[in-house]
Amino acid sequence: MKRKQFLKKWSPRLIVVLVFFVIFYAALVTHPTNVFSQKACTSWQLVKNKAFILSHNQLPEIALDTVQAETITEQAKQVPVLMYHYLVPKSLNKEPGNKSVMNTEDFEEGMDYLHREGYYTPTLQELEQYVKGEISLPKKSVVITFDDGYENNLVYAYPILKKYNFKAAVFVIGSKVNESNEPFDPSRKSFLTKAQMEESKDVFEFHSHTYNLHYKGFAKCGSEYAAGLDTKLLKQDMKQMKELGIDTPYFAYPYGNKSTQMMYYLHEEGYRMAFSVRQGFVKPGDNLMKLNRLTVTTGTDLSVLLHPLDGSLE
Ligand SMILES: [Zn+2]
Repeated sequence: MKRKQFLKKWSPRLIVVLVFFVIFYAALVTHPTNVFSQKACTSWQLVKNKAFILSHNQLPEIALDTVQAETITEQAKQVPVLMYHYLVPKSLNKEPGNKSVMNTEDFEEGMDYLHREGYYTPTLQELEQYVKGEISLPKKSVVITFDDGYENNLVYAYPILKKYNFKAAVFVIGSKVNESNEPFDPSRKSFLTKAQMEESKDVFEFHSHTYNLHYKGFAKCGSEYAAGLDTKLLKQDMKQMKELGIDTPYFAYPYGNKSTQMMYYLHEEGYRMAFSVRQGFVKPGDNLMKLNRLTVTTGTDLSVLLHPLDGSLE
């Protein structure tokens, strides 16, 4: 009897408090203007992600075809994937502090070093097989990648790579693929043309950096992220990339921004391997949809970058 009275007295109040809490929480989540509300918003994102994972089939785990332990000393235990962007001769570099802009002289020095040291440059298909444990790679292996698809990659990097018989992957922004055939001007930002891509396939392989989602337009918890995180836009975008003729299973996240949902939809559309900008090496068994890379820019000493002493990047 007592309990019934207690419930009768307190239940409505409890409901009011709960409703108030839900409204308050929802207001915080939808208007993340300060640190407290951004924290609330982040917690809601976690709940949403969990719900997404529970309601969708899991991405397949990699079944490792383990490479023999005896041979592994001669083979790469981990492989660095180098990330380059824009190349410009030092005398024309107007943004020496920009990590995405690298002096061609430094690029050449790095390639000379890799050549002198006898490095092998696997293709992305070889890297995929390596991560799955299907093949081993020489101890001195390094994957070379370029983001965005600038014309200067062809003008400055291509001849050097070709000279050393190196291969590299370029992640192009589909909508930026150049239509016109204006002469190259090193002081102007220009992108590769389709014809140039076709001509340079002996050195470069071309993959997706989205068709037109290389901008920050997705607001989440008070911050702006790459538009690719908006999965509605992503679906249409992947279609456009295929229509352009870049029908590839390999992808690089613009700004490295990714989410569980994004990885899921990419995988659903046939993408099997994707790169972030998280610093580190790639190892057999890694999650193929979020592989690490190593940023290389003016002043980067490859002999140091490829041999981290403290093991922090291993
Ligand atoms: Zn980019």
